[in-house]
Amino acid sequence: GVKPQKSNVDVLIVGAGPAGLMAAAWMAHCGINARIVDKRNTKIFTGQADGLNSRTIEIFESLGFADRVWKESNHMQEICMWNPNAEGIIHRSDRIPDTVIGISRFQQCVLNQGRIERWFTDNIKKYSNNTISVERGVLPESLVIDESKVEDDDAYPVTVTLRTLTDEEATPVQAATASKSAVSDGLFRSNLMQEDDEAGLLRKAQSRPGTEEIVHAKYVIGCDGARSWTRRALGLELEGEATDYIWGVMDLIPITDFPDIRHRCAVHSAENGSLMVIPRENRMVRLYIQLKEVVPDASGRADRSKITPDLIFRAAQKIIAPYKLDYEYCDWWTAYQIGQRVGNSFADVHNRVFLAGDAVHTHSPKAGQGMNVSMQDTFNLGWKLALVLKGICKRDILATYQSERRRIAQDLIDFDHKFSRLFSGRPAKDMMDAEGIDMEEFKRAFMRGNEFASGMQVDYGPSNLVVKPGDWREQGDRSEKSAKLLTEAKISDDKFAKKQALATEIPVGKRLASFKVLSQADARPWHVQERLKADGRFRIVLFAGNILSPQQKARVDRFCAKLDSPESFLRRITPADKAIDSVIDILTIHSSPRRETELLRDFPAILHPFDQHLGWDYTKVYVDDVSYHEGFGDAYKNYGVDKERGCVVVVRPDQYVAWVGDIDDFEDLENYFEGCLRLPAVGAAQDISIVTETVSS
Ligand code: FAD
Repeated sequence: GVKPQKSNVDVLIVGAGPAGLMAAAWMAHCGINARIVDKRNTKIFTGQADGLNSRTIEIFESLGFADRVWKESNHMQEICMWNPNAEGIIHRSDRIPDTVIGISRFQQCVLNQGRIERWFTDNIKKYSNNTISVERGVLPESLVIDESKVEDDDAYPVTVTLRTLTDEEATPVQAATASKSAVSDGLFRSNLMQEDDEAGLLRKAQSRPGTEEIVHAKYVIGCDGARSWTRRALGLELEGEATDYIWGVMDLIPITDFPDIRHRCAVHSAENGSLMVIPRENRMVRLYIQLKEVVPDASGRADRSKITPDLIFRAAQKIIAPYKLDYEYCDWWTAYQIGQRVGNSFADVHNRVFLAGDAVHTHSPKAGQGMNVSMQDTFNLGWKLALVLKGICKRDILATYQSERRRIAQDLIDFDHKFSRLFSGRPAKDMMDAEGIDMEEFKRAFMRGNEFASGMQVDYGPSNLVVKPGDWREQGDRSEKSAKLLTEAKISDDKFAKKQALATEIPVGKRLASFKVLSQADARPWHVQERLKADGRFRIVLFAGNILSPQQKARVDRFCAKLDSPESFLRRITPADKAIDSVIDILTIHSSPRRETELLRDFPAILHPFDQHLGWDYTKVYVDDVSYHEGFGDAYKNYGVDKERGCVVVVRPDQYVAWVGDIDDFEDLENYFEGCLRLPAVGAAQDISIVTETVSS
């Protein structure tokens, strides 16, 4: 019959779960031509992942919707440990803070995945001017990479055939409704859920059900979950294995006399297994319940058909006894077998097709990491693709997706392996009980686990995007090309130590922490991170130091003169018709008293550029000083930067620290950008008659 439609797209995203939506958000924020397809015909409304860690909320803030998360979610403050006493009866043995104190201005919160997907769809719609929206009921059927075109920037080397499904094909069978003991989900509808009516949001499949389309893409991102079709199409695999531990999950409104039901709890019973309590929004509580009665068969797989909500709930009642536990309303339930698997590779060898999220790592959900790490995967990848597509970055930066993220996945799997064992094991009866789990060890692991689970420990290794010493081989990368790239970026330990000493609390490879500073122009306090929006721009943070000292001012002036010269990387990378801050944004934080300092008198124009129509830019120069109403951020002290001499920091578009150096180190700063940007040669035609030139006349 009908000839299939043909089309071109820069980025095709397969799967609209958390990972796919984060990728689409970057494309929307960076103005990239992208499509996102999902085989399901509606987004999910209940259940699945619920935990948002501190780093994820910081990322949401950079995208512009952290305020909604903060308002609607339940904020968790404390973890209570419950263990058997000498008589074998559970009691509260310890309390620890839920989020490591001081690790971020956001603490861990919980809210269902459906709401998070909703914020993404709103955000993507807004930033893409309605050009990107999830196309549902669409299934990829073939994927071919044309190897002759993979090195060509203008080519569309990946061909994907898409088929539009019929409604019936695109409706997933829900475990809950498929089961005999189906839970009623009409009983309880939160006001948030009603707002979630999708009707007006979905772009209805434009073609008739069953029609085919051939899409030529420059890049494809497979975010299609644990059973990833894209992964299989690339011939890649997950490595790892399942354990014998089976757990059930229930989202319900508990009726109970257990005193800590509104705290996050880890309950280890003497003989009946373990339970985790996660207090949720809308009176709801999630229970993770170990199912000791269900054991895997000889093949290593558990028979899921035996697992019912009743069976799971009876297990919970036994663990939490002598406290009473009951419920009238259950929102969602599931069961899983703990296993830890990680993808052997995160991309095809040409870096044209990428895998992210559950498609490359699966593990138990108890540490609440699945959704967070999945979104953070594509938060790492999205801006790199966008800047390569715009011709700003070299294509070889794409190799850093695998070198940076595969190690994170591996760390996560190792952590989960350990944590699951400690959680699922029986508590030790006494010192001599070698098979039991030592509860002090569990507590220590929990505390360390919380630090890991915050997402703040992510520390990217050396490459042409992150200047630090180290060996690329440690990062699990495989290709010769990225091997070369990552070794080229080498810096000696000595040289690096000197640089890092300039900003002891701004570790290269980690995300830039946030402290409050004041706007020089109007004294309003801002968190530094609020000025690091996810708009695809690199940032140079100039810690200008004591700008009122003549020697220091001379150093800053020299630095700025070099930046402003026609040959500088800044001038060369900025398109002639764009503002000087369109590719690299420069933020200044100085340490002189605010009231003795003047924006226009003390700071070179390049630090607050002039526009003929808009005047000076008042949003770029900040001061580390006391605010009227919000205290003192003490940023220099907290960042470990010298108040006299300052330093320079390069921050990537995803807020990770790329380079630290001295204000006099301009050539080295330029080298950083030579390494990752596609800089036109010195002398190439650039219209430099804009911005600061106009001012001096
Ligand atoms: P997913 O969320 O799985 O999204 C993949 C998307 O791709 C889906 O929308 C799917 O429809 C689509 N897709 C799949 N195949 C194709 C295809 N061939 N073509 C087009 N589209 C396709 N995490 C927790 O932290 N806590 C929990 O309690 C928890 N419980 C979970 C329960 C279940 C039943 C599941 C499935 C997951 C659970 N997780 C939990 C894990 C968490 O949901 C995932 O880690 C997270 O959603 C991963 O995001 P993702 O975008 O990588 O994949």
